[in-house]
Amino acid sequence: MKQEIIQKFCGILGEEKVLLQEPMSCHTTFRIGGPAELFLMPSTVEAVGAVIKVCREENLPYFILGNGSNLLVSDEGYRGVVIQMYKNLGAVQAEGTFIRAQAGALLSGIAAAAREASLTGFEFAAGIPGTLGGAVVMNAGAYGGEMRDVLKEVTVLTKDGTIKRLLSEELEMGYRTSVVKRLDYIVLEAVISLEKGDQTAICERMRELARQRISKQPLEYPSAGSTFKRPEGYFAGKLIMDAGLRGYQVGGAQVSEKHCGFVINAGNATAQDVYRLMQDVQERVMDRFGVRLEPEVKFLGNF
Ligand code: FAD
Repeated sequence: MKQEIIQKFCGILGEEKVLLQEPMSCHTTFRIGGPAELFLMPSTVEAVGAVIKVCREENLPYFILGNGSNLLVSDEGYRGVVIQMYKNLGAVQAEGTFIRAQAGALLSGIAAAAREASLTGFEFAAGIPGTLGGAVVMNAGAYGGEMRDVLKEVTVLTKDGTIKRLLSEELEMGYRTSVVKRLDYIVLEAVISLEKGDQTAICERMRELARQRISKQPLEYPSAGSTFKRPEGYFAGKLIMDAGLRGYQVGGAQVSEKHCGFVINAGNATAQDVYRLMQDVQERVMDRFGVRLEPEVKFLGNF
């Protein structure tokens, strides 16, 4: 990348917020991924807008990164600009029965703020290891709850650089999708609407869901959660298990023995290992059951 472009980003963010050839394995829960050509850490909404403007003017590909918990980055990395929302844009504030949070706030942090304010309705999200932005984009959900149940409004940056406020009915949220995803908006912040509840009951519910996760999911290994979306009328994990793939391994990537819906990094897995394993799983499940498994995990870089 040209030095003058790098200087532009340094001018906007300060040199310490501009990293060259940053290993993406440090920023994904899979602990996999080659370097991002440029890794930017804007800490204000204005800085996000200014950085995107430069990317557009200079025709640079860019990628918005949350906590990298639903992401597989290729071994060669990404030739472009990664813009990290997590860590830098993480303010969370309770206001009555609402919680206002920035896109980079972790769902666990928002759930903790809700608990402190005795607000119920967000317990389902406490154990999802993503940011608010990543969760809005794909309408993250667990244990009967989904983001669409709790979002009051979302502030986004549109492709033409304008800031827009979307009310819940404008978000078009479905299973792992939303208008934000469809139109490539960038989530800046959101307001979550909850109800007054009993703090002890909220704590207990969160503890119970955490227990369930620990007992059913391979949390002791790096992964990106459920690798495939739930096909209509089936469970991906059960199809994979019934296809005889429990523990199936390609290099360091493995179908978890604890939960076949998870592909884990069992030790030094490469992105190619995971990718090839996913292809094998898709092929085998298609052969056996005629069901197409669609990846839930997002891919970044060349595969
Ligand atoms: P990333 O992985 O960083 O990004 C994912 C996508 O969102 C990318 O396309 C990225 O560009 C986009 N994105 C991120 N932030 C923004 C933004 N501000 N604006 C626009 N686009 C953005 N998911 C569930 O739904 N339910 C679960 O129960 C669940 N359990 C999990 C358990 C484990 C152990 C793990 C590792 C993952 C699990 N996941 C689960 C998957 C993942 O945590 C969620 O999908 C989460 O919402 C991803 O958020 P993220 O910030 O990590 O996004």
